[in-house]
Amino acid sequence: MEKYDVIVVGGGPGGLAAACAARKAGAQRVLVLERDSRAGGILNQCIHDGFGLIRYKQTLAGPEYATRAIQEALDCGVEIKCGTMVVDMSAQRQVTAVGPDGLHIYEAGAVVLATGCRERTRGAVMIPGTRPAGVFTAGVVQNFVNIRNIMIGKKVVILGSGDIGLIMARRLTLEGAKVLAVVELMQNSGGLQRNIQQCLYDFNIPLYTGHTVSNIVGKRNLSAVEISRVDENNKPIPGSGWTVECDALVLSVGLIPENEVAKAAGVKLDPRSNGTVTDDYMQTSVPGVFSCGNSHAVMDLVDFVSAQGEIAGKNAAAFCSGGQMEQWVLSRLSEPAKGLPEPDALNCILCPNGCRLRYEADGSISGNKCKRGIEYARQERTDPVRTLTLTVRTQDGRLIPARTVEPISQAKLMEAVAALQRITLPDRDYVCGEVLVEDLMGAKVVATANIPAQHP
Ligand SMILES: Cc1cc2nc3c(=O)[nH]c(=O)nc-3n(C[C@H](O)[C@H](O)[C@H](O)COP(=O)(O)OP(=O)(O)OC[C@H]3O[C@@H](n4cnc5c(N)ncnc54)[C@H](O)[C@@H]3O)c2cc1C
Ligand code: SF4
Repeated sequence: MEKYDVIVVGGGPGGLAAACAARKAGAQRVLVLERDSRAGGILNQCIHDGFGLIRYKQTLAGPEYATRAIQEALDCGVEIKCGTMVVDMSAQRQVTAVGPDGLHIYEAGAVVLATGCRERTRGAVMIPGTRPAGVFTAGVVQNFVNIRNIMIGKKVVILGSGDIGLIMARRLTLEGAKVLAVVELMQNSGGLQRNIQQCLYDFNIPLYTGHTVSNIVGKRNLSAVEISRVDENNKPIPGSGWTVECDALVLSVGLIPENEVAKAAGVKLDPRSNGTVTDDYMQTSVPGVFSCGNSHAVMDLVDFVSAQGEIAGKNAAAFCSGGQMEQWVLSRLSEPAKGLPEPDALNCILCPNGCRLRYEADGSISGNKCKRGIEYARQERTDPVRTLTLTVRTQDGRLIPARTVEPISQAKLMEAVAALQRITLPDRDYVCGEVLVEDLMGAKVVATANIPAQHP
């Protein structure tokens, strides 16, 4: 049986930060076990930008943030084993994992659980109707479109206007689908204002709040959905519905902490959220077993996941050495602006603060918390610009996630996408930050992940 000081289950941003912090706090042997073929967690498929503003003071695409987190962990001397799934764990911190080299049983001084979350499905929201092909969860669609190069349909309805639903509305539009409606049960959207602006309003995608999908129609394949208004109990109002012909329904109806490994070890879970119950030190009900990130409680911003991972990892190392533990305090530097912007308001979309900007009579701009808001307001009045995030294909069919370095005219986004779709990159390794296209409407396009060549 192999022994480690700290074993981290899950190589997403939470787990990577925990592992690095454990090493920095003195743990000698630290191992991350990740079931996917690469570390980085859900960020690998979140190719849009907006990550890392607090942690790195930069707006990064998801894979860029993941690349940094992986490099930091490796630089700290962490061992990362990918393609390795933890299938069992005991309360005595014996961890059983299955990987390419077979089954291993590890013994750990302390364990950090950072297993992320999974999506709620159609069953969880109980939509009536038939069970045709064409109903997906948003995370699955994100994986299909951004990693596997599989498009899910041409006419799409999205249920749920949280950030994931909003981001997928834009992503599918950029890939050529017509997003006919985003439907939201609540009277307001739970998504960030900046996402409502740049994912829906920019593309004239209608958002129906206080509505739901009340029926699914289609035999083998989805042919339509019914959208209805809801009453004060969030139940569809009979007779208020109308039919929308579509070939894909995307469900973005919430995330549930994933805690099968925690359960196996007897860790206490919150019966309402399925998240782990921890003390202020991120230690679970099982001594020496810590938890962080979305498997503890689903968080909006990855920066907070990494910060919490650091505390869990540091405390796991302290548990091994008998050292001092540190409390987790969520230091919300600012409250992100969520929900529908007021009509005719100009909200800055450069960061989650969403400052409400005003053009004053003397030509000055007010309402901005930082100077960038002034530039944004001026630009928005003349020629709005956006950073374009998407994928570029290689000859052997891989997708390289990419973004423009300079923002480009919002009016020309679709033209820019069409130009990039005509480009096929040669078969070789690609490195995060490498320039893929020198001039796309005046902007450079760079890769946002390390994507190795396919070896025969
Ligand atoms: C679609 C989407 C869009 C988002 N957009 C933004 C955004 O714009 N800005 C932002 O700041 N945040 C965003 N987030 C949130 C942010 O990405 C997450 O909060 C963060 O990635 C969570 O990190 P984590 O480490 O807790 O979990 P994850 O990233 O989910 O990592 C968990 C890892 O654990 C592994 N794992 C699970 N079980 C096992 C097991 N038994 N054995 C081995 N490995 C296992 C999984 O494979 C996974 O790699 C978004 C999230 C999603 C889903
Ligand atoms: S003005 Fe500054 S702080 Fe306010 S949303 Fe824009 S970038 Fe963020």
